[in-house]
Amino acid sequence: MTRQKKTDAPAPTVPASCNAPETRATMRGTIDNLLVEERVFRPLPRIAAEATVNPQDILAARKHADADWKGFWEEAADELQWFRKWETVVDETNAPFYRWFSGARCNIVHNALDRHIETVNKNRLALIWEGEPGDTRKLTYFELYREVNRFANVLRGLGVKKGERVLIYMPSLPETVIAMLATAKIGAVHSVVFAGFSSGALADRIEDAQPRAIVTVDGFYRNGRVIPLKPLVDEALQHCHSLVEAVVVVHRAHLDVAMHDDRDRWWHDVMLHQPTEALTEVVEANDPLFMLYTSGTTGKPKGIVHSHGGYMVGVHRTLNWVFDLKPTDIFWCTADPGWITGHSYVIYGPLMAGTTTLLYEGHPLYPEAGRLWSMVERWGVTILYTVPTLIRMLMRFGTQYPAGHDLTTLRLLGTVGEPISPEAWVWFYKNIGRGQCPLLDTWWQTETGMIMISPLPVSLLKPGSVTKPMPGIDVDVVDEQGNSLPPRTGGYLVIKRPWPAMMSTVFNDHAAYVDMYWSQFPGWYFPGDVARKDDDGYIWIQGRADDVIMIAGHRVGTAELEAALSSHPAVAECGVIGVPDEIRGEVAKAFVMLHDDLPPFGGYVQADDMETELMEHVRRELGPVAVLKAVEFRKELPKNRSGKIMRRILRAEEFGEDVGDTSTLEEGPFCLR
Ligand code: ATP
Ligand code: MG
Repeated sequence: MTRQKKTDAPAPTVPASCNAPETRATMRGTIDNLLVEERVFRPLPRIAAEATVNPQDILAARKHADADWKGFWEEAADELQWFRKWETVVDETNAPFYRWFSGARCNIVHNALDRHIETVNKNRLALIWEGEPGDTRKLTYFELYREVNRFANVLRGLGVKKGERVLIYMPSLPETVIAMLATAKIGAVHSVVFAGFSSGALADRIEDAQPRAIVTVDGFYRNGRVIPLKPLVDEALQHCHSLVEAVVVVHRAHLDVAMHDDRDRWWHDVMLHQPTEALTEVVEANDPLFMLYTSGTTGKPKGIVHSHGGYMVGVHRTLNWVFDLKPTDIFWCTADPGWITGHSYVIYGPLMAGTTTLLYEGHPLYPEAGRLWSMVERWGVTILYTVPTLIRMLMRFGTQYPAGHDLTTLRLLGTVGEPISPEAWVWFYKNIGRGQCPLLDTWWQTETGMIMISPLPVSLLKPGSVTKPMPGIDVDVVDEQGNSLPPRTGGYLVIKRPWPAMMSTVFNDHAAYVDMYWSQFPGWYFPGDVARKDDDGYIWIQGRADDVIMIAGHRVGTAELEAALSSHPAVAECGVIGVPDEIRGEVAKAFVMLHDDLPPFGGYVQADDMETELMEHVRRELGPVAVLKAVEFRKELPKNRSGKIMRRILRAEEFGEDVGDTSTLEEGPFCLR
């Protein structure tokens, strides 16, 4: 690579190892821009009138950050409480192992909980929880504080020490939040494992994380069934080497589970008589807060480590910028606590902001497709932050369900996790937001910890674009040499400056951290996605670098092909991969799920006719470069449990190859079907 380094940070001390991910093979050439989407949605006067951050503020913030990014983040850090201030805003001496707020002493739980007890937030609702059967629980900040303290005392009593891991294998329950905060409060490190994972996937994570204790639940409710969980912990522990000395079991589903005398304890037993006060451990800003595995969309999940100081600053700042929180908000992010969005924007972000966060245990379609809308109505939800896969699924049920509920409390909508097609964007905006709520498409990753590219409520919106980087974030689209690309030319998305909530490392594998994220463009972070800018500097994510398809010399991102396909009224879901072609080298093959309520093959007599129709549709939408060679109709598509389409599995199936790590493949009760 010939590009000069833009940062004066010295080279990493950890050498790149040889296990470079597949991405490298595809890092050639730029990416074509085929999709033309010209709809724009101007800022809504009502939103602009109540906005804390207006367009001038955004401009001023960008200017400030570009002139003095360290000072910019320092100001953000000053909005939180610290036991001792930092010596350096960001210590770059061992880059890319950046140390944010180096030397500072803090604890995120002090900001998420303890400090609220001294303010009017004390008696505000921190959590509203709804179980799938309809049972509910509410906790004020004071109540949550006391529960967290009690469980912090439990963990200390069980011998869990600062820096040790506590694995939390739980669905969305109040106890999940309590266990996470209690772990962080004592300076231990939580590792939440999604409750939809099998005992095998759990065993792998136990082996890797080596937790001292596990917190789990007898079982929980999902899609009208009781799903036992504790037996999976027993099974996993039998099949791995571990340090686990204690398993604490929450009693949720009245299941009669086997308890090992010397190891297992009921949550309600250990909590009994615990003092409601507990000391908050003072940690250094770079001490680890949690580790969490990525979604496993492109390969084996990576154990991403985040630390207290930088993470709390980044999450706190972005939540306030993007969702412009008001004291009256009821914030509902539908993500599971087992994913990063659950960590940052269900739990830590809303609690640091002193807002009320809503959690739901169950399946979004139980007992019927109006469940989400009845919850929005029942709790008066003001901000709804969700994922494209859920939006696509709800679209399949039409507008009758949302139309049957009062959704007028909603003021902002958000989405994250995958490119959202313009069609899905407009559907959500019109039918859920009634054209009155800005839809904020937020781009970020487990690794980034916080939202990186996103509109703010007062931004001009373009369906399918994540718009612009957050103030303080320096994002560019470059070719493989690192040269900035002009508008309408796709390339590699890079982040040119460190940011506070960035991951600290890959758990137990520092070399992988350097190798996977910092070796492609030395000095810059490479997230693995491809994107383009438009003439207004708006960013459009084109897909994953690994998934780019080369058609007759043109490189095409999967997001554009999939967006074009899903704009066809018969298409419910789709995934596109590249397949060899004698003439063009490679062409696209689509795997398509049609809408349920259509006759077979979308009303065409033959699958072939529907296939031809879709091929022509894509060509009409994107032009002659977008050659779809074949369409395969499927009843289901392989998705992972955060709902993302796994193209690598489609590819492996197509070519009869080994499918690799499937631990996150969606199946069982968490299926969004
Ligand atoms: P793995 O890294 O294990 O393959 P993953 O990348 O799906 O899994 P996450 O950290 O959950 O794990 O997801 C981050 C990725 O999700 C981003 O790199 C990007 O590809 C995609 N993504 C997130 N938000 C958006 C968005 N708003 N628009 C487009 N893509 C998005
Ligand atoms: Mg990823």
